[in-house]
Amino acid sequence: MNGTQRTAEDLQRVAREHLWMHFSRMGSYGADAEIPIIAGGDGCYVTDQHGKRYLDALAGLFAVQIGYGHGEEIGQAALEQMRELPFYTVWGYGHPRAIELASEISALSHGERSRVFFTSGGSEAVDTAWKMARQYHTLRGERRWKAISRDVAYHGTTMGALSINGVPALREPFEPLVPSVARVSNTNSFRRPDGESEQEFAAFLLDELERTILREGPSTIAMVIMEPVQNSGGAFTAPAGYWAGVRELCDRYGILLCADEVITGFGRIGEWFASQRYDIKPDLMTMAKGLSSAYASIGAVAASESVMEPFTEQGAVFAHGITFGGHPVAAAIALKNLEIMRREALIPRVRANEQAFRATLEQLAELPIVGDIRGAGYFWAIELVADKDTRTTFTAEESEWLLRGFLSHRMYDAGLICRADDRGDPVIQLSPPLIAGQPEFDRIVAILGEVLLEAQQRMLTTSAAAS
Ligand code: PLP
Repeated sequence: MNGTQRTAEDLQRVAREHLWMHFSRMGSYGADAEIPIIAGGDGCYVTDQHGKRYLDALAGLFAVQIGYGHGEEIGQAALEQMRELPFYTVWGYGHPRAIELASEISALSHGERSRVFFTSGGSEAVDTAWKMARQYHTLRGERRWKAISRDVAYHGTTMGALSINGVPALREPFEPLVPSVARVSNTNSFRRPDGESEQEFAAFLLDELERTILREGPSTIAMVIMEPVQNSGGAFTAPAGYWAGVRELCDRYGILLCADEVITGFGRIGEWFASQRYDIKPDLMTMAKGLSSAYASIGAVAASESVMEPFTEQGAVFAHGITFGGHPVAAAIALKNLEIMRREALIPRVRANEQAFRATLEQLAELPIVGDIRGAGYFWAIELVADKDTRTTFTAEESEWLLRGFLSHRMYDAGLICRADDRGDPVIQLSPPLIAGQPEFDRIVAILGEVLLEAQQRMLTTSAAAS
């Protein structure tokens, strides 16, 4: 029996008994709290098990670039691949779809990262990049093992990726983790002193990065890993001059630079890769999510020829592999996804709509609870504040009530899926499918406007009652 044949009640019961949801407070689904069950999708919308529609302003998890309406076409590509070759491995073999997809990714990165190692998702891609960087140095006669990442950055949950993560609450339950990760500040300009210029901010960050490299010992550092626009903490873009400076420091100290493009890749920022928009020139690029629009589980690390070089020496082997890496059906789906993205001109669409999206969101800027609206492309965050003038954030209790006790439920009840997140300061994250346009931007703002106003009023009432 599949899910659509069960009654709604039955599905709820079975979900409670058997489905262990990720990052979920499983104890909170009692008799009066339903597990939200998404049963269908079309365009920018998903439908729950009762038939209610929601605008998915998070694109699954920053992933469904083409929206939910291409199941037939992608399913046909999957079916054809199933008929031709349902599975083969890339351990010591090639197969047509993995070869074609590797060549596509290389072409999309303008040939600058032309060697593609497949994984089944983003965390595996980050682990792979770190191992690749370590072995790259070893093969060149240097023992370098450390990584540098940024505060509050999320890079995944497998032990290597988790160790790189800059979110303490995610790391702590699993410590000790893989040692030897140093962290530097992220590019949160909202919390910088008034009047500081972008150049001054960039100089501060680069000075800190260099001091961290020197403190850790340059000859021990394998890789610097950063997202072109950092998601966790809320769509932090970098100040002018930052990326050129990071690249220069990596070159000066012989460190590989990895751009984690798991979210920012495949059009989210208005280029195939955000590294192109910001001219980052990374040695390694991790990707997943949008590569297949999440229609299949596939990720990759794309490496430059110079990273590949020591691995092509006689007898050298990258001692790493994943059974499902480059799975032919997933690769066929990713290829079809890229074809659809091109056909529907989604990358130019994001560029063309970026200002309209920003301008629509800025209608919310008047609300006292809205401290900052920031981002790029189709990737935005709204930072919520207790006091707009002083930029004071909420206490931990207020934030808990605001995000989990109120906003998440109210937005969902109002038919909007986006994320209320407090891995850094409290933000609402927006990342709709790349097929979204003005009607969706308007709907996001209409719902958020009402819900945020209500949150603000409730917080005022609660603090008045407490005083
Ligand atoms: N890197 C970044 C920047 C991410 O945002 C994520 C997931 O959200 C990951 C890595 C991990 O990807 P996955 O969840 O596919 O393992």
